[in-house]
Amino acid sequence: MLRRRQTLLSGALSLMSGVGCPCVAGAKARRHNDIFGCMLADHEVQAFFNTAPETRMFITGDEPMIPRSGDKDFDLALAQTLVLISDLFQVTPGFAYYDDYDGLNAFATSRARLNGANGTVLFGQGMLARLRSGREDPDVSVAAVCAHEFGHIVQYRNRLTERLSAGQSTTKRAELQADFFAGYFAGARKRQKPSFPAAMFAVRLYDFGDNNINEPSYHGTPDERAAALMYGFQSSYRDGNSLSQAIDISTRYAMAL
Ligand SMILES: [Zn+2]
Repeated sequence: MLRRRQTLLSGALSLMSGVGCPCVAGAKARRHNDIFGCMLADHEVQAFFNTAPETRMFITGDEPMIPRSGDKDFDLALAQTLVLISDLFQVTPGFAYYDDYDGLNAFATSRARLNGANGTVLFGQGMLARLRSGREDPDVSVAAVCAHEFGHIVQYRNRLTERLSAGQSTTKRAELQADFFAGYFAGARKRQKPSFPAAMFAVRLYDFGDNNINEPSYHGTPDERAAALMYGFQSSYRDGNSLSQAIDISTRYAMAL
């Protein structure tokens, strides 16, 4: 069950409790082992693809959302956000909604379903509904989850996943670097658009994922995750680092954890 936890805010991008990737523990017949974070293991991918009928790449922002959410403005905003993340992260994964009956979630995989795509980001339809039911900035909530997942695509593309997981029993380093990238995106948006609700971005993303608290060894402790996100935010917002600089900085950071 998804349980909402209280999050205390004290100023923009203040430290958050319960920081974690949006991997949420589900109940029955789960297709995913949480030990892999929100990256799908190869043997898990097909079970998810089977419930994700259509995949699309977002390159111009004019591509229609499939399936549509029922809200034309939301669909357009999300398509444009996916393009912004793609441009900043220099990756173009396929994007698909899947049936997250076994636990509200979103995932990344290096497996591509479309020619030329850099892997695939799978977004749960239940997760979408849950985020969109939020009273404030639902589009920002969805963007936050997408930025984290696209961060894993950056790792696949730059062959960081193996490096980060070498000698490790969990994917904690990779999850923390994905948090860094999510923060990096929030900082870049805030730099371009000062009204961008970066604090909300962070809070909404990390309002999810109770399993992160139960299994901090998989994903990092709340403090570690807040620190990774803040570091990524500062890397773009304050320091104006390029993507390659951000990759180097975050890789060194994650490897030292
Ligand atoms: Zn993740």
